[in-house]
Amino acid sequence: MTQSYQITLLPGDGIGPEIMAVAVDILKVVGKQQDLTFEFNEALIGGAAIEAVGDPLPKQTLDACRQSDAVLLAAIGGYKWDTLPRHLRPETGLLGLRAGLELFANLRPAQILPQLIDASSLKPEVVEGVDIMVVRELTGGVYFGQPKGVFSTETGEQRGVNTMAYTVAEIDRIGRVAFETAQKRGGKLCSVDKANVLEVSQLWRDRITDLSSEYPDVELSHLYVDNTAMQLVRWPKQFDTIVTSNLFGDILSDIAAMLTGSIGMLPSASLGADGPGVFEPVHGSAPDIAGQDKANPLAQVLSVAMMLRYGLDQPTAADKIESAVLTLLEQGYRTGDIQSPGTKVLGCQAIGETLIQNLNQG
Ligand code: NAD
Repeated sequence: MTQSYQITLLPGDGIGPEIMAVAVDILKVVGKQQDLTFEFNEALIGGAAIEAVGDPLPKQTLDACRQSDAVLLAAIGGYKWDTLPRHLRPETGLLGLRAGLELFANLRPAQILPQLIDASSLKPEVVEGVDIMVVRELTGGVYFGQPKGVFSTETGEQRGVNTMAYTVAEIDRIGRVAFETAQKRGGKLCSVDKANVLEVSQLWRDRITDLSSEYPDVELSHLYVDNTAMQLVRWPKQFDTIVTSNLFGDILSDIAAMLTGSIGMLPSASLGADGPGVFEPVHGSAPDIAGQDKANPLAQVLSVAMMLRYGLDQPTAADKIESAVLTLLEQGYRTGDIQSPGTKVLGCQAIGETLIQNLNQG
């Protein structure tokens, strides 16, 4: 039976519309092959929404996202809007979208593709075969805990305060996403905390340990965050799936991503409890190359694969897209940002056309 999905498309700004066009074409082709139909609804966000209606996240956009099965976002932002008051900036639209959909889990893969191994700053033998997923808690922890602010002490001195806090419910829901993610991957989960110093981390460790009895097929380990930072650059192959809090995840996901060395290749997923997830590249709107057919659409295309795997539970369709990307790299095609001697540089559109040929031949 044909499975049908409603997808909200948010092309946004800069290179967003160019890379989104490629992603949608790919989704249509893989849909035909896998007997999936997609109904697309395009909506405004970021600078494009500010220009059209004076609001970086119009209500119609959030409503459309809430009613869909998944949201595919490209990128927002640009120099033009950098001086607007904060509530009118493109980034405010993005944060509003994450809050509005209650996206508490952020999944950032860092995979070394053999064809791009030289893009990493680490030695090939250290990074070869690296395939890590960082699951970061996104709506709690020290970025949101109360009290927060800058207060005056009794002596009149200013004192800045942030509070790292997690409830059991918050830990459990991110824990479950992480265990389920590990089940779909290599079956290993490393929970990262600072339980030797922080009480909140001890609770985190205790809860994740308790949850593990529900996932006997996942091998759980624990590591302190400082050690994890070292291990990621020392021997990253030891990791499969990592779960951690908001602050630690912010830092560790960037370290893990940079093992790959190429920002135009990195997808991400943000998931909520039961509503639609948002799937988007890690990179921004790259205004310096917008409209020149120079953008690398692969992070966007790999975000489509994440949407199929983690948002719509269609792993075969996701596999097909990822393998078309690998074939394209194997064929020696690159965009300018990842070119190296001996490779052939193509524009954004031509990369999309080649991917479609690969999908049709795969
Ligand atoms: P950026 O990621 O847009 O660009 C950094 C550099 O990487 C640029 O040289 C750019 O040309 C290059 N680059 C990025 N993506 C590429 C791709 N797909 N193909 C080829 N080259 C690529 O970051 P920035 O320059 O710091 O920010 C530009 C704008 O994007 C800002 O307005 C910023 O606020 C916004 N931004 C948005 C997001 C998002 O939408 N999630 C994330 C980061 C930055």
